[in-house]
Amino acid sequence: MTVSKRLRPFGVTIFAEMTALAQAHGAVNLGQGFPDWDGPDFVKDAAAESMRAGGSDQYPPMPGIPPLRRAIADRYGPLLGRELDPDTEITVTTGCTEAICATLLGLVDPGDEVILINPYYDSYPVAVALAGAVPRHVTLRPPDFRLDLDELAAAFGERTRAILVNTPHNPSGRVFTREEMEAIARLCIEHDVIAISDEVYEEITFGPEHIRMATLPGMAERTVTLSSIGKTYSLTGWKVGWAIAPPAFTAGVRAAHQFMTFTTPTPVQHGAVAALRAPQEFYAELRTGYQRKRDLLASGLAAIGFEPHMPQGTYFLLAGYSQFSDEDDRSFARRLVEEAKVAVIPPGVFYDDPRHGHGLIRFAFCKQDAVLSEAVERLSRLAPR
Ligand code: GLN
Repeated sequence: MTVSKRLRPFGVTIFAEMTALAQAHGAVNLGQGFPDWDGPDFVKDAAAESMRAGGSDQYPPMPGIPPLRRAIADRYGPLLGRELDPDTEITVTTGCTEAICATLLGLVDPGDEVILINPYYDSYPVAVALAGAVPRHVTLRPPDFRLDLDELAAAFGERTRAILVNTPHNPSGRVFTREEMEAIARLCIEHDVIAISDEVYEEITFGPEHIRMATLPGMAERTVTLSSIGKTYSLTGWKVGWAIAPPAFTAGVRAAHQFMTFTTPTPVQHGAVAALRAPQEFYAELRTGYQRKRDLLASGLAAIGFEPHMPQGTYFLLAGYSQFSDEDDRSFARRLVEEAKVAVIPPGVFYDDPRHGHGLIRFAFCKQDAVLSEAVERLSRLAPR
């Protein structure tokens, strides 16, 4: 065993595992959440132009290039309802995943408690462990995956330093209601806790309003808002994210970021400037496009016997499979990739107690319509139990 004790419990990320299995079995890959198309030309052109023009080949400033921090301030100022200072409140990171890790390493001490809402994106507990902190788990349960406010309140205590919140939520597709967000905010204020708010799916919603944690009363001063260009602009491979936080928290984020990646590649930061200046129609089209794909997949799955939980946001859909099997999610996902040649994610990996994922599989619908239809076609040949 060569892997450190700190990281040993976490094994290999499910996304790498399922994508490798998909390739090995020639499966349609609805597992790992990345679009199977390229990002927009106006963004790629800006990055390419910055490389051609020169001056883009050396280290950018540690907190991000000034025009990108300016563009982030311009876009998020109105969304967060306050003026943002690019010099003291915005840090560009290598994807939101780095921002999560830098925030925890920079603001949380060993022994502090961090509340994780299960199911969670799989890097959360790893980042908590790297910070030497102790996770406290709160669980969303089917069919509606609502926050149990009593369970939430019980997780807050003396040692709570932070709560990690993700809305719109991967993998359930929930967009937390104002009532749920206000409950989190109240507890954060009462217990003097930092809200680390991962909002990478902020633009992918199908009706319900995305509530931004930092806009709730008393929360601007205790929230770190995280996002990226990955989901909104279909550029998951560019790894450009950011942390927006009041100066004292930004100091913590940067204290970690400067020694993790130091910076994020210069050309993609120039591309991100163009992305953030996209016209309003861009976001409207994004939503319409994904809503259509959601409906295509959900109706296809329902017609062949799966039980989809209709997402209100994100490009993920959880579905029950009780008509096909009573295997656990991992075994069933394994069989789907091998026999049906469709790769999905078993959501047990997103829970502290993997049994909570039993009976559910996660589909990503950020794929061409033909790919979604092909997946449903292949799944339709599954024998009922
Ligand atoms: N966020 C994406 C998902 O949940 C993929 C993340 C990754 O591949 N590490 O599928």
